[in-house]
Amino acid sequence: MWNSQVECLTRADLEQLQLKRLIQTAQRTYERVPFYRKAFDDAGVHPDSIKSLADLRLLPFTRKTDLREHYPFGLFSEPLSNVSRLHASSGTKGKPTVVGYTRADIDVWSEVVARSLACAGSKPGDIIHNSYGYGLFTGGLGLHYGAEKLGATVVPASGGRTQQQILLLQDFKARVLCSTPSYALNIAYTLQELGIERDSINLEIGIFGAEPWTEEFRTQIEALLKIRALDIYGLSEVMGPGVSMECLQGRNGLHIWEDHFLPEIIDPKTSEPLPYGEEGELVFTTLTKEAIPVLRYRTGDISKLNVERCTCGRTMVRMARVRARLDDMLIIRGVNLYPSEIEKVLMQIEELAPHYQLVLERKKALDTLEVQVEITEHLLQRFGKFEDGQVELTSLTDKIQVLLKDGMGLTADVTLLKPKSIARSEGKAVRVIDRRRETN
Ligand SMILES: [Zn+2]
Repeated sequence: MWNSQVECLTRADLEQLQLKRLIQTAQRTYERVPFYRKAFDDAGVHPDSIKSLADLRLLPFTRKTDLREHYPFGLFSEPLSNVSRLHASSGTKGKPTVVGYTRADIDVWSEVVARSLACAGSKPGDIIHNSYGYGLFTGGLGLHYGAEKLGATVVPASGGRTQQQILLLQDFKARVLCSTPSYALNIAYTLQELGIERDSINLEIGIFGAEPWTEEFRTQIEALLKIRALDIYGLSEVMGPGVSMECLQGRNGLHIWEDHFLPEIIDPKTSEPLPYGEEGELVFTTLTKEAIPVLRYRTGDISKLNVERCTCGRTMVRMARVRARLDDMLIIRGVNLYPSEIEKVLMQIEELAPHYQLVLERKKALDTLEVQVEITEHLLQRFGKFEDGQVELTSLTDKIQVLLKDGMGLTADVTLLKPKSIARSEGKAVRVIDRRRETN
């Protein structure tokens, strides 16, 4: 454990610390950020009204759109002269969301990432191969600073050039791989394609995040790479990677570093807080951030909280693996579904490789979903040529359609593809291609 004194605090001591920090954060935002002052005033609330953690519900929510509308620095509570780093989202839906970090924020971030790495079984002296993208995205540098703080040797590989990454994995003998789950899979398949023995690399632990993945996907990666795969969670608006981390011992939910990030689960429709154990939208209030603290930030991620003590000894609450993101929800002919639900079905079919894409189109005012998925090399070898397997492929297509219909009540077209037809992930996988606007 990196910081057992904090990670194993009694709940009572932890809550006392959280309350003190919550009041400080409320005061900071009220005094320094006009957006929050107005929100407090509009709600008739003052930071002095906070007497217990339950009073959190009096505070205003923050949404991603609030960051965009105050682009670039409108929600900062420190002058730029005190900000030592900026990061930003890719801004695919308009203006990017910009976040900043003071020196103290970077220290806290490094601390929570060091805790996360240790929580996953990494230790000082490890070689950590970091395939998260370096740049405006928080993944690369966030992991990097935490790994250095832990006392590990970091290989800042970033994304792409997979063959070279494999060479480095072989020669530098990294024990830990940090990447998106889809990129880990890319590495696993590239090893196979190059005919490189798995045992020529030294990996034991994978720390994967930055995109939703299912338990079925984990099983595949663990089998292919012969590693233990663990889930890391974070988002730039709250900090970056290292907001929470699954532990190696328990592997049943991700410990939230609650001395810095105060979690809630709310009903996404009514915005009312829900008790521990109930599923809803995950919301975070930062407790120590200086440059851009956020109150009740709505993540759009669907999860639930478990406050029972974990077998690893940590007392910090665990969040369930994010089941879905509200933003990713697809509405197709009135049926709401998440890409992860389709992934779950596909991963259970042994003739299929874990490479798929969902293509949405609008034909004659009707939405259609096409599931494109690759068959395994193994299946292809049985036919010799893809074209010679038509009978078997047709029956496989029918089987997938029935499973999707039974699982989600949705009729989808299924297209089976030869291995290697879908572009491999170099970072975040492109799972959904929505052409409904273009084809309208
Ligand atoms: Zn644990």
